[in-house]
Amino acid sequence: MGRLVLSCRSLAQPGVPLDEPSEWRFPEPVLFTLPKAPQTAPSAEFLPEGRLTGPLGPGAAGYNVRLHLHRGLAHIRQPARPPAPSRPMSHSHRLPKDARFETRAIHAGQGADPNNGAVMTPVYLTSTYAQKAPAVTMEGYEYSRTSNPTRTALEENLASLETGNWGLCFASGLASTNALMDRLVPGDHVVAGNDLYGGTYRMFTKVFERYGIEFSFVDTTDPTKIAEAMKKETKYVYIETPSNPLLNLTDIAKAAEIAHAGDAQLVVDNTFATPYLQRPLELGADIVLHSLSKYLGGHSDLIGGALIGRDEKTREELAFYQNAVGGCLAPLDAFLVLRGTKTLGVRMDRHCANAKAVAEALAEHEFVDRVIYPGLPDHPQLMVAQAQMSQPGGMVSFELKGGVDAANAFASTTQIFTLAESLGGVESLVEVPPSMTHASIPAEIRRAAGLADGLVRLSVGIEHSDDLVADVHQALSQAAKVAGVTA
Ligand code: PLP
Repeated sequence: MGRLVLSCRSLAQPGVPLDEPSEWRFPEPVLFTLPKAPQTAPSAEFLPEGRLTGPLGPGAAGYNVRLHLHRGLAHIRQPARPPAPSRPMSHSHRLPKDARFETRAIHAGQGADPNNGAVMTPVYLTSTYAQKAPAVTMEGYEYSRTSNPTRTALEENLASLETGNWGLCFASGLASTNALMDRLVPGDHVVAGNDLYGGTYRMFTKVFERYGIEFSFVDTTDPTKIAEAMKKETKYVYIETPSNPLLNLTDIAKAAEIAHAGDAQLVVDNTFATPYLQRPLELGADIVLHSLSKYLGGHSDLIGGALIGRDEKTREELAFYQNAVGGCLAPLDAFLVLRGTKTLGVRMDRHCANAKAVAEALAEHEFVDRVIYPGLPDHPQLMVAQAQMSQPGGMVSFELKGGVDAANAFASTTQIFTLAESLGGVESLVEVPPSMTHASIPAEIRRAAGLADGLVRLSVGIEHSDDLVADVHQALSQAAKVAGVTA
């Protein structure tokens, strides 16, 4: 009779591969000998032909050795550890239905990777996906312009934050707007706010008007102006609230009512507020638009855009243009936005607190003509702000007594506020919109909408508020000197 000795180490150490090959062939039945009982003895199980000598105890945690002997063939198998109570890998599927915003920001759309448990959503840097058979995909992915797992995670995350049913991510905020406009045909009409981001205005007037789409730019802070501009061809009412850079607010619920009465969809650019402060879908909007390049990314390190909504037919049409036109978000940028949304709540609380401190400091300063901040008592739509936003946001605009020269001097002498376009990053930025972000709007149209040539816009970051206020004070003194005023 042959004899097989199993080493203690082989048997006693969970997870350590057996020392010997896991299969032996013998001419005859074999006597198995277990040497000295390991501390945590394995359990063993034999087919009738086998025999066992040596002690047997309860299975060591997670480790069983199963010995099979059949017609002279000995198999030693190390089955998997006893299964732990199983938990689904995707947190999204386990999130309680009533999980709050901050919890959803961190978990929605994301879960441990089912292949290896990676807690952070991997950056799926792949353009294509292996298929099981022609046109039979493994997980529905075939080409990354159409869809990519990192982008899917972000799309689900944003849908959850805006309380929508779907999200679609694009290469920029403007690529999102472009996808919306791709649905229109010549003769269609859009009612749009008259102080939109300059790039949006440029796209409407320089690109889509050429294709026969008609736009009416109106003061959407007054709902009657929206209603008066509606036509039977109107397909969208398109608003920014707060608007860029005048921080005008539009009553979203009223705008939705007017749009729907005319069979149009309400699109809300929610870039300035973010879903942490305002959720337009809950107020009746049909589609929310974001420049992800701003607060949602939050670190000024990417360009991206998103559309979020509830209606499935709208999603299908927009997903068609996302794929057919191709302005989709790259996986690495999707990953960066996912990292940004995790801290959105804490960042926005700080942006808002700092913006309030800066706005109040400006309002008290004699060299400042006008401060626009939806949290100040003199903001013209204060009631709307209080009704539809949980806090007034991180953006502040103002005009100085010295006009455009003083504005340029202020923007050139800040030390912590960086003179740069864009907004919504952790760092504070200053700009003069008429010559920078809104230069693409003709001067007479800008002025008619109330955008003075000397307007200064601040994106208040999350540095210490005392440092920011001190920086504003020193830059005001410099600007006053340029204007020949002592301040
Ligand atoms: N919407 C608003 C309110 C913006 O401020 C901007 C850009 O500044 C955009 C849309 C366009 O976004 P992006 O620059 O990501 O294309």
